Order: sequence, then structure tokens, then C-alpha cells
Amino acid sequence: MNASEKIELADPSTLRVIRYPDPRLTEVCSPIETIDAPLIELIEAMWGLMLDSRGVGLAAPQVGITVRLFAATPSFSPDDLRVYINPRIIEESGSSEEEEGCLSFPQVYARVKRSAVVTVEAMNLQGEIFQETCSDLHARIIQHELDHLDGRLLVDRMGTVAKLTNRRALKTLEAEFDPA
Ligand SMILES: [Zn+2]
Repeated sequence: MNASEKIELADPSTLRVIRYPDPRLTEVCSPIETIDAPLIELIEAMWGLMLDSRGVGLAAPQVGITVRLFAATPSFSPDDLRVYINPRIIEESGSSEEEEGCLSFPQVYARVKRSAVVTVEAMNLQGEIFQETCSDLHARIIQHELDHLDGRLLVDRMGTVAKLTNRRALKTLEAEFDPA
């Protein structure tokens, strides 16, 4: 299935955040070929869900739609809703380690080492390619959400200590997962 077909199948009015260990979270997502009405509807629904869930970023696979886009609001504000379509990091430098969480891993937190500064290239809602250089939380969101598009999760970025600390929360999520 290509990206348009995956989006066509989704119902933006019933979007919800899926949780680890849902296998859709570990898929490598499909590139988006066209900016059309169903895509825009999906992005708007994701912005709403991200704010309602009190998140600063939400990747399409987190709502079960495995296509290459993520929503973000680095300043956590309805006036700062961003979308990155087919994003890629074209430059990165430095290193920074901070605690991260993920809407697909409730109650799980881990210190993750990331690049301190990244330049991302992506397409916006108008279909234009843009580049953005960001640091701090914004750079961390970009790297975390981009990981999602390649099926890479918070748990894959955890060190031994974080895995141990979060063992119970991860086990609970695994026990709660309903494949149906
Ligand atoms: Zn996440």
C-alpha cells in the first residue's frame, strides 16, 4: 500500500494514539507523494490530538498510519502547529542528553542522547520544501519523531539503566496490549 492508500483508509474523526508494543509502531513508513484533501484532514486531526494529549510531537505511525509525516508544537501552543512531511536531517552537530517521554509509552521516561543542533528538510502543507535549523527541545522533537518514521522507538534508545528503571511500566504496556 502506498501513502495515499493508507491515508484513504483512515478515519480522521476516530484517530487515537496507539501504544507500545503495537507492531505498527515498528514499521518503516511510506513516503508521501501528494498533498491532497485527505492528507490535510489527517494533519489537522493529528494537531488536535497532539494538543489534547498534551504532547509536543506526534508522528503518523502513532495514530496507526504508517506514512512519513509528523506534527509538532515546540512551544506547546495552538498558535504554533507545525507539520514535517517526508522529513530528513541534512546536518547535525553537538550532543545533548535529556529526559524524553513518548505518547505511545505512557509512564515511561528515559534520558536519551541526541544531536544538540539539527537542520531538517521537509515539505510543508503547501507542498513547499523548507529547511530549518533548530536546537534544544525543538531539535530533540525532530529527532524523536523522525525515529518514529523509521520504526525506531524510545525503548530502542534506552540504555540498560533506563530499561531497568522502566521495566515495570514496559511490562504493564505489554500486558495491556490487545492485538485485536
Ligand atoms: Zn514518540
